[in-house]
Amino acid sequence: MKLDTMERIAEEKEQSLHHVQALINALGDPSKWEYRDEMNDTGSMNSRCACGHSIRYEFIIYSPEGKTAILGSTCIENFSQFNPESAARMKKDYESFMEKVKAELKAQKEKLASDEVEKAKSEFEPVYAEFKKYIDAKRSPNGYLPYDVYHTYNYAFYEHNKIKNFKRKITMVKKYKELTEYCKRAMGVN
Ligand SMILES: [Zn+2]
Repeated sequence: MKLDTMERIAEEKEQSLHHVQALINALGDPSKWEYRDEMNDTGSMNSRCACGHSIRYEFIIYSPEGKTAILGSTCIENFSQFNPESAARMKKDYESFMEKVKAELKAQKEKLASDEVEKAKSEFEPVYAEFKKYIDAKRSPNGYLPYDVYHTYNYAFYEHNKIKNFKRKITMVKKYKELTEYCKRAMGVN
């Protein structure tokens, strides 16, 4: 084991002992306190664990006399050696809350990405319509395009069709923007 790893573990152990001692000081016999499934997200680090450190997530615990105290998420582990049953429920609530937060963040990001795709698409479409008109004007009476124009059109057409198959929205946005520039350049518009 590397020395810095050992030092870190030793420090974590010492921190943990410090928390445990502080919990005993604050609660008396911590094993008598129980969790009744009340957890709060305060939204910032402005609350305090019974052991003294700043916390964001509060787990309310009750003494047999009905007194309440607050535990922070990092002290769940420390509390588990006194009351493993309550600690297990706290851990479960904490994990499912975090899952929910993660899912909400993901949905928010998806929504933002979708909006960006829509924006890039709406900027591309009129340019692409102009581009197609520009290409059509180059056709000979029998419908043929000069080779270089045909090549330019084929590339834009092929890339445009590819966009809807991209899985990542960020790639779609990038491609719409690239293609908008490409069509403008092909028409000699800046
Ligand atoms: Zn604590």
